[in-house]
Amino acid sequence: MVKPNPRPELVLSKDPVRHYSKSTKLADVCYDIRGPVMDEAKRIEDAGTTILKLNIGNPAPFGFLTPEGVARAVAQNLGASQGYADAKGITSAREAIEREAARIGIPDVGIEDIYLGNGVSELIVMSMQGLLNTGDEVLVPSPDYPLWSAAIRLAGGVPVHYRCDEDADWQPDMADIRNKTTNRSVAIVVINPNNPTGAVYTRPLLESMLGWARQHGLIVLADEIYSKITYEDAEYIPCGSIDEDVLVLTFDGLSKTYRAAGFRTGWMIISGPKHLARDYIEGLNVLAAMRLCANVPSQHGVESALSGYQSIQALTQPGGDLFEQRNRAWEGLTAIDGVSCVKPKGALYLFPKIDVTKFRVLDDEQFVFDLLHDRHILIVQGTAFNYPEPDHFRVVFLPPRDELAYAISEIGEFLTTYQQHPR
Ligand code: PLP
Repeated sequence: MVKPNPRPELVLSKDPVRHYSKSTKLADVCYDIRGPVMDEAKRIEDAGTTILKLNIGNPAPFGFLTPEGVARAVAQNLGASQGYADAKGITSAREAIEREAARIGIPDVGIEDIYLGNGVSELIVMSMQGLLNTGDEVLVPSPDYPLWSAAIRLAGGVPVHYRCDEDADWQPDMADIRNKTTNRSVAIVVINPNNPTGAVYTRPLLESMLGWARQHGLIVLADEIYSKITYEDAEYIPCGSIDEDVLVLTFDGLSKTYRAAGFRTGWMIISGPKHLARDYIEGLNVLAAMRLCANVPSQHGVESALSGYQSIQALTQPGGDLFEQRNRAWEGLTAIDGVSCVKPKGALYLFPKIDVTKFRVLDDEQFVFDLLHDRHILIVQGTAFNYPEPDHFRVVFLPPRDELAYAISEIGEFLTTYQQHPR
């Protein structure tokens, strides 16, 4: 008979107050878009001052509302949403996503390859928890959407940032991807259309990336949540449609195109050689089952969202609010002497560069703090997106044109104080 281990002696602490710390797993996990600057903005607001927020891609507070049909489908199905659903999502939503996958050219997707989640955010965390062992490397763009780096670290992995080239419209730098791939690399994140740069990747570039992934057995993690938010002649090409020999996880959802960020509904599609990923898929199924199911009411909006008229197009074409706001913000920023900006071809953001030989911005977070205090305008520092130089910031172009014009002229004026009085 196995003897039970003796219980360790309980040593009574002299200090009766016990302090509780976060787990060591969180040591390197950071998500500065909602970090200390946002806390300070909240403090200022609570004290009664209005802040113009250009910091988060949350369409509804700026009047970009969820299409009526989507909201109605959710409301009408509240009664049918009271119980837990299938861990991977309700059938009508998964069938609609299956049709959408076929429509955009992702081959051989069945409803068993589709997972609904509480936003793409949850699925990103889940996909990384299910995949990574300690020390596994994932190639991530720089600048990135920082949830990716955070989720990789939380799962014990190592984000390895590859360069996106501002001088080439922020397209990923293939030479840098090649240099940074090692035998610990297991996956590569592709954010297209991109947050924060607004880049939309060309077919030849995506073919090179997928070719590299095939050669090295990398899983492609395609965050395509801005898939339908493109401007002018920019064409969104799904990673999953490029090379059927590469395992691709495609992420999209209701938050941006359907302006329903609060509904917390996103989806993940697995395509490519799924037979090589049986074990990983088993892990994903365990993780999906552990949280029982995703929020059910809003899954009822997916079928309506994906079928028929796509109201986002009226917003992104000339004359549409997103199109015109993008132009106004870009024109305003590039008119500031000492600020340059690649014109975004997709998504909801601009990622301008400050000429630090003209303006003495040495610490971009401090700059963002100072702007908040001085002008009550909230933006996000470039380093929050794991960008290595402290000379960029991100602006969301969701506010109306006159507010954008006002905010940008304030930013331009505020920058001149850096010219005269380095901080
Ligand atoms: N991925 C990218 C690139 C994003 O920009 C965002 C939100 O801003 C998300 C994922 C999160 O999406 P969700 O609201 O579906 O969690």
